Amino acid sequence: MKSPMTGVGVNQKREDKATSDSSPDSSFFQTPLYFRNLVEVSPYGFCVVDKNRNILYLNQTGRDICGNNLFNAASEKDKAVIEAAWQRIVLHPEQPVSFRYRIKDTLEEELWIEAIGKNMLSDAAIHAIVMQFRTSTNYIQSPEEEGGLAVKFSQLFNAGIIGIFVSKFDGTFIEANDAFLSLIGYTREELKQGKVQRDILTPPEYQPVSEEAVAKLQEGGKATTYEKVYLHKNGHPIPVLIAVSRIEGTEDVCVGFVLDISERKNIEKRKDQFLNLVSHELKTPLTSMILFLQMLEHYVQRNKHHEYHVLLEKMKNQMGKMIALINNLLDVSKLQSHELPFTMKNFPIAQAVSEVVSVVSHMTVTHTITIRGKTDAIVYGDKERIEQVLVNVLLNAIKFSPAANKVIVSYRVHGKYISITIQDFGIGIDKKDQKKIFERFYRVETDSNATYPGFGLGLYIAEQIVKKHGGSLTVKSTKGKGSLFSLSLPTV
Ligand code: ADP
Repeated sequence: MKSPMTGVGVNQKREDKATSDSSPDSSFFQTPLYFRNLVEVSPYGFCVVDKNRNILYLNQTGRDICGNNLFNAASEKDKAVIEAAWQRIVLHPEQPVSFRYRIKDTLEEELWIEAIGKNMLSDAAIHAIVMQFRTSTNYIQSPEEEGGLAVKFSQLFNAGIIGIFVSKFDGTFIEANDAFLSLIGYTREELKQGKVQRDILTPPEYQPVSEEAVAKLQEGGKATTYEKVYLHKNGHPIPVLIAVSRIEGTEDVCVGFVLDISERKNIEKRKDQFLNLVSHELKTPLTSMILFLQMLEHYVQRNKHHEYHVLLEKMKNQMGKMIALINNLLDVSKLQSHELPFTMKNFPIAQAVSEVVSVVSHMTVTHTITIRGKTDAIVYGDKERIEQVLVNVLLNAIKFSPAANKVIVSYRVHGKYISITIQDFGIGIDKKDQKKIFERFYRVETDSNATYPGFGLGLYIAEQIVKKHGGSLTVKSTKGKGSLFSLSLPTV
């Protein structure tokens, strides 16, 4: 801008005001004055400039926004944007050119201006450049940023680091990058022909996972992350981690990012095989050691070496702990490979509960375990495995309530299910940990973790056993107050 506006608009407005106070007759609507008044009160800034950027007219809104300095108020960062826009306006008569830039308002706050300019120099009646503009206090992406983001996204799309697809909720893939296509073994032509369909790519056991993800997108459109398996065109399974998000402004289209996690799954498998091997290798010598220990016990008793009795008891105790741990590790690897055997038969659940309570009561001197109520419910299942679950939950109840002295076991009937609830008054479990405690190796982080020995396997095994019986193991807990575990089983 070479000079400030001439002030034509301001003076003219004052002159016209008296006229506009009285009701005009219909011919007034045709007058230039009428239109000038209209422009003057427009909520948009309106400006007429000559080819040297002298402002010939600026309406009231325009003056409110930027004083008389429509261009000069632009922040240093955006001077180049204005120059480029001006060139485009001058070089392309009659074509509207949109641009946006930042200015400092009278309070030195940064404001965004969205402007549109049109070169009307060749229009004999106007012979000027006409601009409209408005402010926005919201953040507006600058053109460089916008361009930059698009470029960055297309780089990501083509980089081949991660599979990316765009699909409809009904399962039709609309677009995909090369990384995704090569992962699933399909060609771009097959994609275009509609041959890439979620149902074809998803093995039956993973259909519910996909359906759940779509349902979540339909509800909130928010991104969800989940693991599943895709079937390669040649039939082999590929474990993947997927993050999907509904594309804003669409009803049923989402973008998905797919990471091949085959390598991670292989490592996990090798780790499981290693654990299985180690547990077997440890169990064999331990079994012989227990045999020798029993022989030693007989020898000590026969020869009345009672001074060794306490030591042998301690050894037996420690070995018992080692066996329990190794058995847990073996159970985990058998569960992983679906090889944990179950001997199913009908049995009264109350009998299992009272046997377990009696055994565990002998293992504690600090807590009293009380059974409240009765049940004659019959359960079809592996009694020993169900007892293993009960022992685990009961020992946890004692272990994690060091300041309490009781645990309460009770029964509840829900339709065809019997629930055994085990309530303690201990340290409790934070809401965020309550789901995770059933995961393998998960232990809640506490300041005094060392106080509570364990490996985070018990509840994982317990839940898996209960699920195999068609039941559930759940927890309700309040941190600092205690926990209530419910073991629900279908009755006969
Ligand atoms: P472990 O007891 O060997 O660590 P579990 O799988 O039995 O493994 O339990 C996992 C975790 O759940 C425990 O480490 C503990 O943090 C939490 N937990 C289990 N039972 C209770 C309970 N009754 N009260 C408080 N925390 C518990």
